[in-house]
Formats: sequence, C-alpha cells, structure tokens
Amino acid sequence: MTAGTMKAVIKTKPQFGAEWGEAPIPTIGPHEVLVKVVACSICGTDLHIYEWNDWAAHRIKPPQIMGHEVAGEVVEVGHEVSSIKVGDYVSAETHIPCGLCFQCKTGKPEICRNLKILGVDTNGSFAEYMSIPEVDAWKNSRSLPPEVATIQEPLGNAIDTVLSEEIAGKTCAVIGCGPVGLFAVAVARACGATTLIATDVNEYRLALAKKMGATHLFNPTKTDVVKEVLELTHGDGVDVMCEMSGNSKALHQGLAMVTPGGRASLLGLYNDKQTLDLNTEVIMRGIHVLGITGRTMFGTWYKAARLLESGLVDPRPLITHRFPLKDYAQAMDLMISGNSGKVVLLPDGPS
Ligand SMILES: [Zn+2]
Ligand SMILES: [Zn+2]
Repeated sequence: MTAGTMKAVIKTKPQFGAEWGEAPIPTIGPHEVLVKVVACSICGTDLHIYEWNDWAAHRIKPPQIMGHEVAGEVVEVGHEVSSIKVGDYVSAETHIPCGLCFQCKTGKPEICRNLKILGVDTNGSFAEYMSIPEVDAWKNSRSLPPEVATIQEPLGNAIDTVLSEEIAGKTCAVIGCGPVGLFAVAVARACGATTLIATDVNEYRLALAKKMGATHLFNPTKTDVVKEVLELTHGDGVDVMCEMSGNSKALHQGLAMVTPGGRASLLGLYNDKQTLDLNTEVIMRGIHVLGITGRTMFGTWYKAARLLESGLVDPRPLITHRFPLKDYAQAMDLMISGNSGKVVLLPDGPS
C-alpha cells in the first residue's frame, strides 16, 4: 500500500489558475493501477480548465487534480487487475468507457454514451501519483523516453484525424498548428502525403510545422490562404483538409480549399455554434466531412507506438519546453502565449 500525501496541481476554485498543493496519494479500486508519474504533458483541454472557459465552468467540479497525459511506473495494482503488473511502464488512454452501452458493445468504446474522461471527470496526472483504470493503461516500450511516451495521447488525436481515410499520395492541408496540428503534419508526412500545407497565424508554430515536414506554410493574417492553396494545386484544391484550429474563419477557408470529392476531417472544437452554407460548401462539392473525436481504443495507440518506435514520427522537435511540475504556472503562461510546441512537466524536475 502506498499511503500518505503527494504534491499535485489542483484546480481548487472555479476561476483562472490552479494551486500547488498536497493531496492524498490515490487509493486504487480493484480494476485500477497506481502509477508514479515520471512525465506528464499539457493539453489544450488542461489550458481550458486552467483558464476556466465556459466549457470548463460547465464540466469541471473543483477541487480536482489537473492533467491527463502521462508516462509513469506502475507501483501498485488492484486485486482484479490481470494485464498490468507492478514495474510496468505505462501511459493512459483518457476515455473511460462504461463497457455496457450500444457503442461499447459494438466496438466503439471511445464514443461511449456514458463516457468519462481522465483528468476531466476524475483526478488527473499533474501529480506525483495517479490512478488509472486497467482498461486505459497502455504498456509502453522502454525504448520510448517518458517525455515521448506521454504525448501518445494527443498524437493519437492527430493520427485519427489524418488517417481517418487514405492519405498516401494525397495533397493535404493542416489548418492550425497547435501541438495536435503539428503532430498531424508529422503523421501526414510519415504516411505519405505529398504536398503538405500548414497554416497558422503564429510564425513560431509555422516554423515548427516546417520542421515536422510541411512543404508549404501560409499565414492567413498575411496572405489569402485559399488563393495560395488553389494556385499551388493547379486550381484543384487539396485532397485532404484537417481542421485543427477550432476557428470559424479557418473552417470556411479550409472547406474552400478542399477539392470537390475530397475529405475534410474536423478535430478542432469551436467556442460557438458554427453556421455552414451546406449547399455550396459541402453538398454540391461532394465533400466527405468527418467528425473526429480522437483515438480509437486501441487501434490508434498501436499506430502511435509503432510510428514512434520505428522513428517514422519523431516528435522531439515539437517538445519545446520542459518544466518541473511545480512550475506549472510558468508552463501554462507559455502555452497561453502560443510560443511553444508541446510542454512537458516533470514531477522530479528536468534531469
Ligand atoms: Zn490530451
Ligand atoms: Zn459505454
């Protein structure tokens, strides 16, 4: 039994920020494992919870430990756990399915009707220890450094977005180059996209997109991105558009740059309701619009692990900053500035 208290980043109040505090080391249920966190990473979701946007205000019930992306060592397992043992090196899928609803029973637990999300509906990973349901524990290869193992969860979102239909030999535009957009560029490159366009309003992020394999970079504040993409593709438009920004203007621009009959995979979440002219933007152009919720359980994880272990995707240029966990506020400020890729937090500090 691991007993006592631990340090954690706790959302204590329904307002901006979080506190560095003490919390009990989680006691695990029969189907859970206790993990000593070696590395965790900051997701856009964590930022929303930290900033306390409308979504967070409706969903999060403080006090709660923040975070969901993780890599760590299993130190204890519940008595019903059979697939994970003490000493295993794991990361976590964050969808906690009920196992009983229609979606769960027909092989789509990631869109479970009674879905809970780790670090959103439960205590999370920005702590020295975390409990993970066995169903969500993913055994890592020791070849993956913890700072790489922790980013498999958002990499999975990018994999689902890019690989939801064929990508090899296709032209592709990734709209929005936050960390998941940048992962999408890397995955599209690894899986055979040809012309690979990245767009963002932030030059720092465009430079990272180039490092990850984008062939063309456009900043919509500086140029007419639709015109540029059409010119580049001889007037055809791109075969595949991945909308990662959650920005209304970018959504319309993104749809306008897809070739008729092409595919639009939408991952970015919007703050407001969006209005589309379905007739002209989608239907009459025969565009396949796919809603991507992120990560199949566990097809995506096998792809993420294989892309990383084979070296086909090297996420390290994207991991731009590392902070001791206690310096989370500095890390959050940096994320808010937009001048970062993926930010990793280390409970034991950077070595
Ligand atoms: Zn995440
Ligand atoms: Zn279910």
